[in-house]
Amino acid sequence: MKLYSTRNLNEIMNPKDAIIKGLSNDGGLYCPKYEDIIAHKFDIRYLLKNDYKATAKLVFSIFFNDFTGGEIENCINSAYNDTNFCVGTNDNIAPVTKIGKNYLMELYHGPTSAFKDVALTILPHFLTTSYKSKGENKKVYILTATSGDTGKAALSGFKDVENVSITVFYPTDGVSNIQKLQMQTSEGNNVSVVAIKGDFDDCQRLVKEIYTDNEIKKLCEKNNVVLSSANSINIGRLVPQIVYYIQTYIDLVNANEIKLNDKINFVVPTGNFGDILAGYIAKLLGTPINKLICASNDNKVLTDFINTGIYDKNRELYKTISPSMDILVSSNLERLLFLLSGNDDKLVNELMASLNTKGVYKINDTLLEKIKENFVAYYANQDECKKTIKEAFEKDGRIIDTHTAVAYNCLKQYINAEHTNQNNVRATQYKPETRTDEFYEPSVILSTASPYKFARDVLKCICDNNVDTFDDFACLDKLNELTKEPIPKNLAALKTKEKRFNTTLSYEESKKFVIDRII
Ligand SMILES: *Cc1c(COP(=O)(O)O)cnc(C)c1O
Repeated sequence: MKLYSTRNLNEIMNPKDAIIKGLSNDGGLYCPKYEDIIAHKFDIRYLLKNDYKATAKLVFSIFFNDFTGGEIENCINSAYNDTNFCVGTNDNIAPVTKIGKNYLMELYHGPTSAFKDVALTILPHFLTTSYKSKGENKKVYILTATSGDTGKAALSGFKDVENVSITVFYPTDGVSNIQKLQMQTSEGNNVSVVAIKGDFDDCQRLVKEIYTDNEIKKLCEKNNVVLSSANSINIGRLVPQIVYYIQTYIDLVNANEIKLNDKINFVVPTGNFGDILAGYIAKLLGTPINKLICASNDNKVLTDFINTGIYDKNRELYKTISPSMDILVSSNLERLLFLLSGNDDKLVNELMASLNTKGVYKINDTLLEKIKENFVAYYANQDECKKTIKEAFEKDGRIIDTHTAVAYNCLKQYINAEHTNQNNVRATQYKPETRTDEFYEPSVILSTASPYKFARDVLKCICDNNVDTFDDFACLDKLNELTKEPIPKNLAALKTKEKRFNTTLSYEESKKFVIDRII
C-alpha cells in the first residue's frame, strides 16, 4: 500500500516511513488512493468468526503491508490487552450495548477513558517497530498540542517507550480540571507537560512553528533527533480506528441484533474528522453502512459544509461542554476530499490554499453529491446536549458523556427528519413525542468518552444537588452512586497521585524548552 501526500501525488511513502514522518513536507496528509482501498474490499460474511484482534490484524495488514505478520501481532498484543483496556473477560476493547432501540459503541475503556486510547495505545508500537526495522539509532521526539483528551492518551501511550520522548502542550484555559490533573500526574521518565499561556490554537501554532523552524531542524540533525507527531494527521492514528466499525458490525450480526448485509448507520461526535473518516474507509472496504451521521456541537462548521458545500472557518469558536469537538479546522477532511475527488491532488491543493488565505472554500456539486451519498450532518447546541443527557438517563437508563450526547441528539434529529421526509432540514421543530416508530434504521452511536471524565457537567444535567459546591472527586462519587458503574481506575487514582508537572510558559519560553530537550 503506497501512501500519497493529499497535495502532491509525486510525494509517495511506504507506511513505515509515513508513520515516522507524520505530515508531508508540502503540508499534505499521507493517504492511500481510492482505488487501492477498493481493491481490498471484503465480503463481511467471511469475517463473522473474527474477534477484535483478528479484525485488527486484517486491517493493519491491508494498510501497513510493509509490516510482517509477526510485527503486526506484536503491536496488537502489546496494545490491546487487559492491562490497557478493562472490559472484563473477552478481548473486545469496544463493546456494543443498547440505548433505547439503538446502540452505543463504548470506546472509552482504555487507560485514559477516551476513545483516542484505541489509536494511541498502538501508535507507539507502530512507531518503534518502524524505527527498528530501519536500523537507525535516532531518537524520536514527539510534540503534541492538546485541547484535553489527546494529550493524556499520548502521554500514557508513549510512557517509557524506548528511544522516544514526548512533550504535550495544553492551554492554561481550555481543559477541564480532571483533564489537567490527568496530564500533570503523568508517569514515565521520557514525558513532559507544559501549560501555555493562551488557547488551543496557540498550542497548535507553536507545534507547527517548531516543526518548520530551520534552526531547530539543524539542531535535530546534529543531535540525531527526529520530530514526529501524535495528532490525528498521522496515518498511524487513523487506521486503528477503522477496526471498530467492522468489528461492531460483526458483533451485531453474531448477537442476532441485525441480519447479515443489513445496512446500519454510525453516528460520530466529530471534531478533527478522523474518527468518522475511519468509518468511511470501513464502508469502502465492504462494511454494510448506510449513512455516517456527522454530529457537531455549536461549532458546526462541518454541518454547514456537508449541507452546503461551503467550508467557512471565519466564525467565532465557542467553548462548550464537549471541548474535544470545539474545533474550526477539521484536518482529516482533507483526506476525504482527496478520496472522493479520485485522488485529485491539484484540487485539494487549491481548496487548502483557499482555506489558508481566505478561511473559506467551496466544492463543486459533483463532489458535494458524493459526500451526501455517504454522510449526513446535524448539530446539537448546548441546551440540546444537556437535555439529551437527562433524557438518556431518565428514559433509556443510560448515563452518557457530553460528546456522546451531542451524537445522540443528532441521531434523534436524523430520525425525525427521515420520518417526516424532510431530509437535511434542521429539525428545530423536533418533537420526540410526535415520532411514531415506523421509521427504524439500526444505528450505532460512537461513545467517545466515559461520563466520569466529564462528571461535573453530566451531573448537572441529571441531579438536583448544587453540583457547584462539590469538588471533582465528590462529582465522581456522586455519579458512581447514580450509575452503580465503577469509577475508572485511572480517574479514581488521580486523588492521591503526585503532581509532577506544574510548568506554565509563554510562547517564546516554550520554544526554548523544546530546544533544551533536543540538545
Ligand atoms: C477527539 C474526540 C472527539 C472527536 O474525534 P475526531 O476524530 O477529532 O473527529 C470526540 N469525542 C471525544 C471525547 C474526543 O476526545
